[in-house]
Amino acid sequence: AEEMGSMGPAAGKPHAVCLPYPAQGHITPMLNVAKLLHARGFDVTFVNTEYNHARLVRSRGAAVVAGLPGFRFATIPDGLPPSDDNDVTQDIPALCKSTTETCLRPFRGLLARLNDPATGHPPVTCVVSDVVMGFSMEAANELGLPYVQLWTASAISYLGYRHYRLLIGRGLAPLEDAEQLTNGYLDTPVDDVPGLRSMRLRDFPSFIRTTDPDEYMVHYVLRETERTAGASAVILNSFGDLEGEAVEAMEALGLPKVYTLGPLPLLAHEEMPTPRSAINLSLWKEQNECLEWLDGKEPGSVVYVNFGSITVMTNAQMVEFAWGLAQSGKQFMWIVRRDLVKGDAAVLPEEFLAETAGRGLMASWCPQQQVLDHPAVGAFLTHSGWNSALESLCGGVPVISWPFFADQQTNCRYQCNEWGVGMEIDSNVRRDAVAGLIREIMEGEKGKSMRKRAKNWKESAVNAAMPGGSSHQNFDKLVRDVLLPKN
Ligand code: UDP
Repeated sequence: AEEMGSMGPAAGKPHAVCLPYPAQGHITPMLNVAKLLHARGFDVTFVNTEYNHARLVRSRGAAVVAGLPGFRFATIPDGLPPSDDNDVTQDIPALCKSTTETCLRPFRGLLARLNDPATGHPPVTCVVSDVVMGFSMEAANELGLPYVQLWTASAISYLGYRHYRLLIGRGLAPLEDAEQLTNGYLDTPVDDVPGLRSMRLRDFPSFIRTTDPDEYMVHYVLRETERTAGASAVILNSFGDLEGEAVEAMEALGLPKVYTLGPLPLLAHEEMPTPRSAINLSLWKEQNECLEWLDGKEPGSVVYVNFGSITVMTNAQMVEFAWGLAQSGKQFMWIVRRDLVKGDAAVLPEEFLAETAGRGLMASWCPQQQVLDHPAVGAFLTHSGWNSALESLCGGVPVISWPFFADQQTNCRYQCNEWGVGMEIDSNVRRDAVAGLIREIMEGEKGKSMRKRAKNWKESAVNAAMPGGSSHQNFDKLVRDVLLPKN
């Protein structure tokens, strides 16, 4: 019924094409936007790369990517050469470069095919693209379509990236030599950026920690974040109470209107359950036994450990985390992705496994939001990816943060220093520090106060996403003022 209007299947229906950057932490929030638009009566075409589409067919089965009435999947190539292992996280700089340089042409071709009346669905009426897939702006402009960009990370990290120019202009970056990484130089205060609070050089997204003035990622993120100015609107997976100040500072940089729609999992949840809820684009197969295991545990008694979809570490670092968990004496659930350890398969010491058998569950991928919502989880040892940061707030769970790269340094700073929900682990991780922080967060005074703050943030997040809340209202405005075709 949703599909068939009285004037035939296609008449007058808006049609949004959603183009995420092809990594898990970008696909998930874009999928939530796509579901919300579908719930509002939009036809949706969700564009995956061929590589990820094949992974999804393997992890979720063909039915998931078959779509629903008015919700279809399409693919474009990512431009990378074929790899030997086709079930791993792709190299991020290589993927940034290849999508930027090769994807415009296939994307333009896709829009043309979608606009062919023979398809039976309505012509494309708007494009929602990831900020870091900014090549798509040209294709949308050629067709005169509203063009909305989704920034999947925090507003504070957007400001951090944009102000790379300031750091370069002041001569703070690039670094003079690699010693500056460890000699205290990164502690230089940079506390006069509008919208950012008490920042040090080390709290800016990590790509700037380079001695190379031509570092690809620095110039890539500058270009992508600066061209956001040409979009019709920007949408953010964040909410006013959390990042209002940074959002205002973004708009003051000459951006179009910025709409906070987060936390997107909560906003999208409101539309459930529907057949849409069955669409889950997890690139790894989730092990649902994780939830059953948690069911048997006391409230707040388990440390949940997960470093997201991209982080890699050395085997030595993993062994430090392992012994830290063992020494803490706490129960834990640790998700070790198949490609978490650089180069090789993860090898954990036999003695660690023997010693923690019965109180530790190891798995390779889990339904994270459900885990963080589970009452048994008392703390989250995380890399502070933005989705994970928001999901932990939604679950009211405090964090121990070991930021790996990109925006994670900035998120970690705010979790620890501004939002009162986190404690940081030194990048040179030691088992004693891990064990100490786990004990502190699980049973110490600091842990208690962080848990309280996290629960307060959960309340604000829920309020933002419910009818009448800021994110909910912003979504209405975005649809009405930007995405619906003007007659
Ligand atoms: N995720 C998950 N199961 C896992 C690990 C991660 O569902 O075992 C999800 C997690 O809930 C989040 C996303 O993958 O939505 C990771 O995004 P994030 O921004 O936290 O980090 P990234 O992977 O981009 O570093």
